[in-house]
Amino acid sequence: MTAMKKFFVLVMATFLATLAMDAQQRELRMGCVQQAVTTRGEEMYSLPAPYVFDAERTYRVPVILVAYESLGFSMDDAARYYDRLFNERGFNEGVGRGCVSDYFREQSRGRANLEFDIYGPMVVDEPPKKSIGTNYGFMAQRKALTALRATEERDFSIYDWEGDGEVNLVLFVFAGFTGNEMTGYVWPNSGAFSGLMPGGIYASFSSTSCERIDDENLCGIGTIVHEFCHYLGLPDIYPLPPATSYSTVDEWDVMDGGNYTNYGWCPPNLTAMELMYLGWDMPVELDEPVRVEAMKSLSEGGKTYMIRSGYYRNEFYLLENRQQEGWDYGIPGKGLVIYHVDFDEVAWRNNKVNVSDSHYRYDLFHADGLNYRAWDGKNNGKDNTRWTMEHRLRSSYLSTAAYPYTDALTHEVNARLTDDSKPAATLYNSTDQGRQFMGKPITNICMSTDGTVSFNFMTDETGIEAIDYLAIDNLRFDVQAWFSLDGRRLSGKPAQRGVYVNGRRKVLVK
Ligand SMILES: [Zn+2]
Repeated sequence: MTAMKKFFVLVMATFLATLAMDAQQRELRMGCVQQAVTTRGEEMYSLPAPYVFDAERTYRVPVILVAYESLGFSMDDAARYYDRLFNERGFNEGVGRGCVSDYFREQSRGRANLEFDIYGPMVVDEPPKKSIGTNYGFMAQRKALTALRATEERDFSIYDWEGDGEVNLVLFVFAGFTGNEMTGYVWPNSGAFSGLMPGGIYASFSSTSCERIDDENLCGIGTIVHEFCHYLGLPDIYPLPPATSYSTVDEWDVMDGGNYTNYGWCPPNLTAMELMYLGWDMPVELDEPVRVEAMKSLSEGGKTYMIRSGYYRNEFYLLENRQQEGWDYGIPGKGLVIYHVDFDEVAWRNNKVNVSDSHYRYDLFHADGLNYRAWDGKNNGKDNTRWTMEHRLRSSYLSTAAYPYTDALTHEVNARLTDDSKPAATLYNSTDQGRQFMGKPITNICMSTDGTVSFNFMTDETGIEAIDYLAIDNLRFDVQAWFSLDGRRLSGKPAQRGVYVNGRRKVLVK
């Protein structure tokens, strides 16, 4: 087992828009790369390189609240409210664990210590809603900065983290609805920026988000987190044109639909891929037969695992145990989540991870065989009775992507990802006469009642030690049924000789 080496890349920037989530607006869920701007380096990319934080430092970030002459913030003291939302330890109006700063401190394992200074609200003579085109709030940003420069005495060079003459980034929060939920209002976005700040220093990147989802709900911290992650170098995971689907991994990932979980109050943990990309946690690479025992959940700081293709090193699977606790309280399901990644640095840096319907570079293996598109067609956002949809928690979409999966009707268990399982352990890249399979079986996946996960990697599937792990949490174990040793439910007592499981015991059939 060896740890994966960190990706090294350069620093740049651009415009990205976040996503629409509202079911009525799904056609609008098209990320918008407004322009690609190179600020540093030789290559042209649309996203900055992963930012490397020094855990000993505190990084200060200005946040400018923008209100309109015709529409203010709904709370009595918006500056005080947003100071709490960004900075106050444990502050959260949903089921999340804390404020924006808490999220990044926890996700970065203590590396990213952020402190936000709130300015405004600056009131601008702009309409809050526009009737033509997408409203990114650019003119209102300019007017807010002009007003701020006229009144603010503080020198904004305190927000220049490296002392290179530029403020690293400035955040804007607009009063009123968010444009990805209410057409015409400001659409959250991030990207290269050239804004003159108080003290005569320019900011080179901006991230924008808004106050409200609808009349009843504020936006929480999810979209602020999503947009800030773009500054850190993370791309959008939801499909972008010419891909036509609406989501890829949805609420498993804050860079897909996870920024809306619990109305934005409980964005999920960053995934194994994102943690690796940012250098915040490295997966353990599995390259020889082993049984992984009692893998802890991501929320409890559990290890993640990587399995590389033998043909092409940048194509790999990532394995993480996700449980509905901590920042993952609202995720769609629980168990072993297996990602299929076909990493391409240029695609990542240009925010083009999932742009082809036939080649997602970042996707889940769906233990029930149903991807987002299939779920959408089957469910169409209506039949959510099996899941808790109140407060937008535990969305039904992709709830069955985790292993082990037991079919609710047949009780058949899917506890394996192999070349001949369904779904199969496929690869995009192969040099072996088109045989596009991983060839490294993951079997006997099980989840214990304590929320830990265990599995076999490339080991003998008939291993006797495997039997103890067949009972699956949260599912009825049918003691009359016959199972193969890797957890497949058989249609009846097997005719073929061998070792099977029946009545929770290993049975030899002669
Ligand atoms: Zn985005």
